[in-house]
Amino acid sequence: LNGEDDNLSPKEKEFEKALRPLSFDDFTGQEKVLDNLKVFVGAAKKRNEPLDHVLLHGPPGLGKTTLSHIIANELGSEIKVTSGPVLDKPSDLAGLLTNLEEHDVLFIDEIHRLNPVVEEYLYSAMEDYKIDIMLDSGPNARTVQIGLNPFTMIGATTRSGLLTAPLRARFGITARLQYYDAQLLTHIVRRSAELLGTPIDEDGAYEIARRSRGTPRIANNLLRRTRDFADVKGDGSITIAIAQMALEALDVDHNGLDEMDNRILSTIIEKFKGGPVGISTIATAVSEEAETIEEVYEPFLIQEGYIKRTARGRECTLLAYDHLGINPQQDTRS
Ligand code: ADP
Repeated sequence: LNGEDDNLSPKEKEFEKALRPLSFDDFTGQEKVLDNLKVFVGAAKKRNEPLDHVLLHGPPGLGKTTLSHIIANELGSEIKVTSGPVLDKPSDLAGLLTNLEEHDVLFIDEIHRLNPVVEEYLYSAMEDYKIDIMLDSGPNARTVQIGLNPFTMIGATTRSGLLTAPLRARFGITARLQYYDAQLLTHIVRRSAELLGTPIDEDGAYEIARRSRGTPRIANNLLRRTRDFADVKGDGSITIAIAQMALEALDVDHNGLDEMDNRILSTIIEKFKGGPVGISTIATAVSEEAETIEEVYEPFLIQEGYIKRTARGRECTLLAYDHLGINPQQDTRS
C-alpha cells in the first residue's frame, strides 16, 4: 500500500489509469505548481514554441506521471513514456528521440537512475535538439549529427538530490510536488468513488483521506480495498464505519501510519534508544532497502514530525514516543 508503483499488478495499473485526471481543471491541489504550469504551457502554445524542459520532483504517488500526461494533453501533443533504468544505452534513447514529432513530450520517470553515458547523450538533445549517431563500427566508424524535432522533456524523480548539476541545469522549469492535506484528498477520494460508481458519504471519504499518508495513490488504493469491505460486509456504500473496519484490517493506524512506518519508529526507539541512528542501520534492522526508506517512508515521517534528521542520523521526536505509547523516560533511552 505504500506510494511506490514499481510493483503494481496490471489490474492495479488499469485502475490507476481509469482514475487519472486528464486536464489541469481535473487535477486537485498543488495549486502553485499548477498556476505556473498553466502560464508556461499557455505561453509556449501562443508562441508556437516547445515548452521548456520540466523537472518534477517529490515522493511517489503525488501525481508526477499524471501531471506529465496532463501537460502533453494541454499542449495538444503526444507523450512518449520511459524511465531511467530502462534506458540502457544511448541507442535506446536515440530511437525514442528520433521518433518525436514537433512539440511532443518525452517523459522519463526515475530520471535520477539514468546511466551516466545515456545522461550525457541527453545533454545535446535537450540543449540544441541534436544528437550524434554512430555509423558503422571498427575502422569505418564515424559519427554524424542529426537534428531532432523541438520537443519537451519531462523528468520525474523522487530524489532530486541525486541529479547531477549539468542535468539539473538543463531543465528550465522545476516543480516540487507536496503532500496533500486531508481536505484535498477527500475531494480526490470522492471523485474516484464517483468514477467507480461507489456511493460514499463525506465522513467515509474523510476517514480514508486523512489516513492516506498525504498521497493520492494511497488514497485511491485504500478506497479500492474499502469498496471490497463495503460490498462484502455492508450494502455496497462506504460509511465511516466501513472505512474504519477496512483500514484496521489493512494495518493502517489511526494516524494513517502503516505497518512499516510504525516498525521504523519502534526500531529507532527500542533498538537505538531513540537515535540518532544512520539510515542504513535502520534499513538493516527493519529489513527494507535504505533507498525505499529515504524515498517513501522518511519524508512523510519527517513532515508529520515523528522523526528529525540531524547531522548524526535520524532521531525520534516525543510525538513518536507518544504515538507508540512509550514513555521517553523509560530505560530504552538511558
Ligand atoms: P507519481 O508519478 O508521482 O508516482 P502518479 O501520477 O502515478 O504519481 O499518481 C498516482 C495516482 O494518484 C494516479 O492514479 C492518479 O490518478 C492519482 N492522483 C495523483 N495526483 C492526483 C490529483 N492531484 N488529483 C487526482 N488524482 C491524483
